[in-house]
Amino acid sequence: MRKHHLSSADFSQLQFDNQFIKQLPADVETENYSRQVINSCYSFVNPRVVTAPQLVCYSPEMAQLLDLTEQDCNSPLFTQVFTGNALLAGMQPYALCYGGHQFGQWAGQLGDGRAINLGEVVNQQGQRFTLQLKGAGKTPYSRNADGLAVLRSSVREFLCSEAMHHLGIPTTRALSLTLTGEAVLRDMFYDGHAKHEAGAVVCRVAPSFSRFGSVQIFAARNDTVLLKQFLDYTIRTDFPHLGDPSVATYLTWFEEVCRRTAALIVHWQRVGFVHGVMNTDNMSLLGLTIDYGPYGWLENYDPNWTPNTTDGDLRRYCFGRQPKIAQWNLTQLANAIYPLVGRIKPLEEALQVYVTSFAQGWEKMMAEKLGFLSYQATTDAPLIDELLDCLTLTETDMTLFYRLLAHCDVSDLDKQASWFEILLPAYYQPQQLTGEIKARLAQWLRAYGQRLQQDNLSNAARQQRMNAVNPKFVLRNYLAQLAIDKADTGDFSMIEQLLDALRHPYAEQPQYEAFAQKRPDWAKNRAGCSMLSCSS
Ligand code: AMP
Ligand code: MG
Repeated sequence: MRKHHLSSADFSQLQFDNQFIKQLPADVETENYSRQVINSCYSFVNPRVVTAPQLVCYSPEMAQLLDLTEQDCNSPLFTQVFTGNALLAGMQPYALCYGGHQFGQWAGQLGDGRAINLGEVVNQQGQRFTLQLKGAGKTPYSRNADGLAVLRSSVREFLCSEAMHHLGIPTTRALSLTLTGEAVLRDMFYDGHAKHEAGAVVCRVAPSFSRFGSVQIFAARNDTVLLKQFLDYTIRTDFPHLGDPSVATYLTWFEEVCRRTAALIVHWQRVGFVHGVMNTDNMSLLGLTIDYGPYGWLENYDPNWTPNTTDGDLRRYCFGRQPKIAQWNLTQLANAIYPLVGRIKPLEEALQVYVTSFAQGWEKMMAEKLGFLSYQATTDAPLIDELLDCLTLTETDMTLFYRLLAHCDVSDLDKQASWFEILLPAYYQPQQLTGEIKARLAQWLRAYGQRLQQDNLSNAARQQRMNAVNPKFVLRNYLAQLAIDKADTGDFSMIEQLLDALRHPYAEQPQYEAFAQKRPDWAKNRAGCSMLSCSS
């Protein structure tokens, strides 16, 4: 094979300690062909060698966490390694075996069909990270697909991972985005119009890439031995604070997964993120946002919106359903660990913890978005309900609305005209802001003003609180698409600019004002901006 192990003098700060493969059983077959992989948690497989690797972009913050310098990242070796052309000493590439429920149906074995883990790095601070290439070629889990990824979807994954991190939302990270120099055939809308696109690889980074489906696969196969082995490993490695694995620990572990998932979904609802494919293989056991595919950001607030055209009819994974879907997914995970627990009641109780923890987290989050000191059920529940109705009366940009609301001086009833002037940029059809719609909104703003009096914060103090939770910058769907359009012509400048702007999503950053504008009309029905598919 053309691959070579490079001496540890290169990137020697990357200390590999591959516990996952050390402690869990490997597929005995080492040939790389599509198959069912049983009695094992992963298969060894090498990334494929590509012709012309080229660095598009890297994340300086992620590099720093891995103790990599700017010089390291700009070296030819970096590009070779993170496109899959060279292995560093200590790397032992493998693909994970997992299953999952897709759109509500058990889909059997899925696995890393186009992701290859390079190994686990422990940084100077003792933090553990798995490095994973997405789009680096076929694995035993590729079924009849090609194991590759295109630039379009890779730009989206790279930028959104880092944007989520800077928003303070648990997520897998992205170290690098590279081009392979090879063309990949994709039928973007599965409508018979396949075309060649540029192949790309993202190096993803996370403490662990384990998913709900990683547990489910062993339960589905009635392999209780491996189920227990995998869960014990997960608890010891990723949840060491829970203590030694036991039936009691399985329950506290599951409860913690419920809490983490609740916290994650509260964050998504806070910023208007729609994952798009909340299948159980795309749910992280660590409560991270994982697998950026046909995700999108709410422009006008609409609980029924989903960016995923594949889900356009049923809208299973639309914005408003995300909390319920997470609960459904957790129920599948509970079913999967039931053989180890043997009792239903404590699992049901843990699922109830998800429900209450989500509800409380959501109320607190909404109170924060509105700048309240705390959530007061009697006043705030109806106020929030009415606001969410008001936001759907006429197309209202969610991100802009909350950001601008912080600037309204609602304490002064005489300033009503100024409220609307301030909020106007949030409206897609400002001419509709008349009559009943305007009256209802004015009434809500008055009630909001009264509610704020309870807390007695200054406008400046409230504004500061609100701006800390209501981002000014999110990866608007059309912005990602513009960056992709430019990247397709070989110009990566907008990727860099977006990466930079999204580093400080809560700051004003007037130099990036153009990235804080509502969706332009041309983007409303354009592919890639409002309509996406799983083709990536
Ligand atoms: P997703 O819903 O995109 O997370 O993908 C579901 C499953 O399909 C996972 O097992 C992926 O690894 C696999 N998959 C998606 N795209 C490809 C591809 N181009 N080649 C191989 N496997 C893929
Ligand atoms: Mg996936």
